Amino acid sequence: MINMVFLGPPGAGKGTQSEQIIKDFGIVQVSTGDILRKAVKDGSELGKLAKQYMDEGKLVPDDVIIGIVKDRLKENDCQNGFILDGFPRTIPQAEALDKMLKEDLNISLTHVISLEVDDGKIIERLTGRRTCPQCGRGYHISFDPPQKQEICDECNTQLIQRDDDKEETIKKRLNVYHEQTVQLKDYYGKQSILTTVDGEKTPDEVYKNIKDILS
Ligand code: AMP
Repeated sequence: MINMVFLGPPGAGKGTQSEQIIKDFGIVQVSTGDILRKAVKDGSELGKLAKQYMDEGKLVPDDVIIGIVKDRLKENDCQNGFILDGFPRTIPQAEALDKMLKEDLNISLTHVISLEVDDGKIIERLTGRRTCPQCGRGYHISFDPPQKQEICDECNTQLIQRDDDKEETIKKRLNVYHEQTVQLKDYYGKQSILTTVDGEKTPDEVYKNIKDILS
């Protein structure tokens, strides 16, 4: 059973690596960022609230996020294992997670993997990131460009940049990471379930390391 937390700054490659892990290990990915972006797109109450924080690169309040994760982890597809991507991001979130796993679900975390990438590299990666709003495929203007500039290879749609991938917002998100999230490495280090992985290697090399840890 794999019940895993994926730590690391925005743009470290958690989403990309998660795609591979869920295929190989048959578990689900729970990305709080994806859940919030969907809520924004749907125009729900949650979306309206979250958008104000997300556009500023700030964290959505703990109680809102904790409620979302609590509901999601109770769903059937999470019972065979999960990757939490983008949660927890603060100590109160980590404490709430421990509590809900123990008291509501009677399970515990098996792995916490921290993907380590330098801030300069993060900015280079995120400012070049593009997504197709139609089919969801991701690109990078330097490392994985589409055949036609800014157009999706799969469905010919104009690619977009996430609002929070603008350089100013990325810097704010990195500050938030260093101020509030990095401490979680100590938190999980004390529980002896933390492993760090060099996220600056190629995606294949990074995945090989992760697979060794999970196998
Ligand atoms: P991500 O895609 O994980 O980088 O998340 C995008 C944005 O969603 C973040 O910059 C936050 O505004 C918000 N968000 C996602 N996960 C959390 C969380 N665990 N706690 C607070 N805010 C979050």
